[in-house]
Amino acid sequence: MKDKSAQLPQHNITNQDWEAKVDALNALAWTTLQTDRSQARQQSEEAYQLAQAQDVPYQRGLAESARTLARIYLYDGLLDQALVYALEAEALLTEINYMTPMPQVLHTIASGYRMLGNLSESLQYYLRQVAVSDEIGDSEGRGLALLGMGSVYIDNGDYAQALAHTEQSLAIFTEIGLAYWSALALNNMSYIYLLMGDHAQAIELGNACLERCRLVSNPRVTIIASHTMAEVYLDMEDTDRALTYLQAAVGLAQEANFRDMEIEGLKLSGDIYRRQRQMEKATMLLTQAVTLAEATNHRKFLYESHHLLAEAYKTKGDFARALHHFEQYHTIREVVLGDEGARRLKTLEVLQQTEVARKEAALYASLYEEEQARRLLAETLYQVSVALSGTLELNAVLSQILEQLSLLVPHDRASLLLLEGDHLEFVAMRGFPDDDRVSRERLPLDAARPDDVFLRIYDSKRPLALEHLAAYPGWKQVADLPIPEAWLGVPLLRHDKVIGMLSLARETAVPYAEESITVAMAFAAQAAIALENARLYAYARRFNEQLEYEVRNRTEALREAYEQLERLDRAKTDFITVTAHELRTPITVLKGYAQLLSKDELIVASAHHARLLTSMVNGANRLHKIVNTMLLMVKIDNRELRPFLEPVLIAEVMGKVVASLVTDLELRHLTLTVQKLETLPEILADSELLPVVFESILVNAIKYTPDGGQIVVDGRFWNESPAADLPPDAVEIVVHDTGIGIATEALELIFTKFYQTGDVALHSSGKTRFKAGGPGLGLAIARGIMDAHRGRIWAESPGYDETKLPGSSFHIVLPLGSR
Ligand code: ADP
Repeated sequence: MKDKSAQLPQHNITNQDWEAKVDALNALAWTTLQTDRSQARQQSEEAYQLAQAQDVPYQRGLAESARTLARIYLYDGLLDQALVYALEAEALLTEINYMTPMPQVLHTIASGYRMLGNLSESLQYYLRQVAVSDEIGDSEGRGLALLGMGSVYIDNGDYAQALAHTEQSLAIFTEIGLAYWSALALNNMSYIYLLMGDHAQAIELGNACLERCRLVSNPRVTIIASHTMAEVYLDMEDTDRALTYLQAAVGLAQEANFRDMEIEGLKLSGDIYRRQRQMEKATMLLTQAVTLAEATNHRKFLYESHHLLAEAYKTKGDFARALHHFEQYHTIREVVLGDEGARRLKTLEVLQQTEVARKEAALYASLYEEEQARRLLAETLYQVSVALSGTLELNAVLSQILEQLSLLVPHDRASLLLLEGDHLEFVAMRGFPDDDRVSRERLPLDAARPDDVFLRIYDSKRPLALEHLAAYPGWKQVADLPIPEAWLGVPLLRHDKVIGMLSLARETAVPYAEESITVAMAFAAQAAIALENARLYAYARRFNEQLEYEVRNRTEALREAYEQLERLDRAKTDFITVTAHELRTPITVLKGYAQLLSKDELIVASAHHARLLTSMVNGANRLHKIVNTMLLMVKIDNRELRPFLEPVLIAEVMGKVVASLVTDLELRHLTLTVQKLETLPEILADSELLPVVFESILVNAIKYTPDGGQIVVDGRFWNESPAADLPPDAVEIVVHDTGIGIATEALELIFTKFYQTGDVALHSSGKTRFKAGGPGLGLAIARGIMDAHRGRIWAESPGYDETKLPGSSFHIVLPLGSR
C-alpha cells in the first residue's frame, strides 16, 4: 500500500485540486449513471484518466471511477468489461481499505458472474457483500446482496431459498424506504411465483411492483417488471397481453438506452411471435436482439438471442440459417461459461435433445396412430368388400350389408331400403323388433313432401345427417318405436343413380360426425356394387332356371319324337324285311317257271313269244335284285353285314361289272376306259359285295353323264398312306366321269339313304337312262359295304352344272387285307 500522505507536501495544492476534480467527476457520474450512462461514462473515464495521470495515481478516485464504469458496463451488458473494472475497483478499495463503496462493487462483480452463469462465484461475492455491508452497517448493501442471492437461487432452481432471500431483502428495502430496490424485490418475488406456477400470486406481486415503480424515476425496474408480467401472461397463454407489456418495455428501454433491457424485450417478444408462427416478425426481432447484443458485447444475451433465432429459423424450416445460429450459440456460450459451463451445457443439450426426441416421438406416435386408424379403416373396408362379395345370394348380401355396416359406423338401428318404382321398400333391418311392423312400410318418394328426408337424399344424391330428429318436420316415425336422436341417411348409388338408401339411427344425442359420414359413403359404394352383383346374379339364375326348364321340355319332346321315329323306322325295316322275304319266294317261282317256259318248244318256235319271255325274265331278275338290295340295306341298317373275306383281284371283279354294262354304255354312246387295275395287288374282300359297290358307282356314272361322255376307271395302291385318315396299305379305285357333277354341299349327303329319289314314274324305265331315278339306295349301300370292309368311299366334284358338265370322281379305298 502506497503512502499517499507522504506525497502530499510536494503536490499539496495541485493534488488537492485534481483529487477534488476526480471526486467531483465521480460523484457526478454515479448520479448521472441512472439517467444518461454515456455521459456518465465520459465523466468516469475522465476521472479515471485524471486519477491515473498523476505521478502517484489517486487510488480512491481510480477505485470509484472503476466502480462507476463497472456499473455502467454492467447496465450496458458488457459483462467482461464490467468485471474488469469491478475487480480493479475491489482490489484498489481493499488496498486502501476504503470500504464504503465496497458493497456496490461486490454487487457488480456478483451480478456480472451471475449474468455469465457462474453461479457459485456469484454467490461467493454476494456473501462477501453481506459480510462487508454488515461490517460497515450498510443496510442497503445487505439488502442488495440478499436480493442478488435470491436471483442466484432463481437461476439455480431453488425457489424456496430464492423466495426467502428476496423476502428478506424486501423487508430491508421497505424499512429504509428504498422504492427502487423494493420494487425490484417485489418483481423478483412475482417472477419466483411465476416459476412456481402460481399465476395469481405472480400477477398480484407484479402489480404491486409496478405500483411502487411510480415512486421511482429510474425506468429500469419498470421495464424489468413489465418483462415479468409479460412472462406471466405468456405462461397463461395470453400472448396479446404479454406482447403489450413487452412493447411498452422495449419502448422504455430504448428511451432510457438500457440496451440489455432492450435485448431482453426483443428476445421475449421475438420468441412469442415464433410460437405464434409469425415467422417474419419473429426472425426480425430476434435478429435485432442478436445485433444489439453483438454491438454491446452482451455475450449472455448474444448466445441466448442466437439460440432463439436458431429456433425461429428451425420452426420456419430454414435449416441452414438455424444451424448457423445454433453453432453461434454453442461457440459463444462455451467461451462465456468455460469448462464448467460446457459441462452444464452438455447436460442441458442432452436434456434438450431428449425433450426434442420425446416431442418428436409424441408427434410420430400421433401420426402413427392416425396412420393406423386410416389403415384400420382401409382394412375394414377391404374386409367388408370381401365379405360383401363373398356371397351372391341377394338375401345374404342384404343382411351382410347391415352386419358389416355395424362394424364401421356405430348405430342402434339400421335399415336398407331399395328403390322400387316411385317408393322405397325396406328389404333388410337391424335392431328393429322382430314383427313386420317396419317391413310392411313402403315409403313413397312424394314430391309433395319436399321435407321428406328420403326425398332430399334422392334428389341430392348426398348423405344427410340430422340431429334431434323429433324436431325435424319431415320425419315419419314408425309406430311404437322410440324416436332416434341422431340420424344418418346415405344413398346407394350405381352409375350415378340412386338404387336405394341406408338409414342409420342412434338413440343417444351423438350426431354423426363428418368422419362417420365419409366412412358410411365409402361403405355405401361397396354395398351398392354388392347389391347390383347379387341382383344380376339372381336375374341370371332365374334366366338359367327358365332356360334349363325349356331345354328339359324340348329334350323330352325330341326324345319322344326320336323314339317315335325309331319305332317307325323299325316298323319300316320290319316291313321291308318281311316284304322282301315274302317277295323272294314268288319271284323264285316266277323265275323257275320262266326258265321252264324258255325251253318250251312252242316258245322257242315263236320269236315273238321268246322276246316276251325274255322281257319277263329280265323283269323278274330286276325284281330279284331290288329285293336283294332291300335286304342288304336292312342288314346294313341293322349293322349285321359281315363281309366274307377272300383273295380278290380288283381287275377281275371290275371286268365282270363292266362287261355287264357294255350294252348300256353302247346305248348311251359312252366310252369307258379301265386302266392300271391289273397292277393292283390281290386284296382280301367279299367277292359278292364288292361288285355291288362297283356297279352302283359305274351305273351312276352312266346315269349322270350325258350321251357321248367318258368314264375312266383308274387304280393305284400304296404301302405308306398318302393321308392320315387313310389305311397304310391299300388299293384305291377312282371312277371319273364327264357328267353333270355334284354340288359341294351334296358330296356327303348322297351317301345317305333315299337322298334323292328321282321321279318314281321313271323307275321302271331302264336303270341307266340319263338321270334316271333310282330308289336312292345305291351309294348308301356302297358306303355300308365299304365300312364293313374298313375301307372308305367318297365323292369329289367341282360342282353341279348340267351345261358345263364339270364331272365327278368317286374314290374307293380298300385295305389290302383285313386286319
Ligand atoms: P340313285 O338311285 O338316286 O342313283 P344313289 O345312291 O346311287 O341313288 O345316288 C344318290 C344320288 O347321288 C343320285 O340321285 C345323284 O343325284 C347323285 N349321284 C350319284 N352318282 C353321281 C354321278 N356320278 N354324277 C352326278 N351325280 C351323281
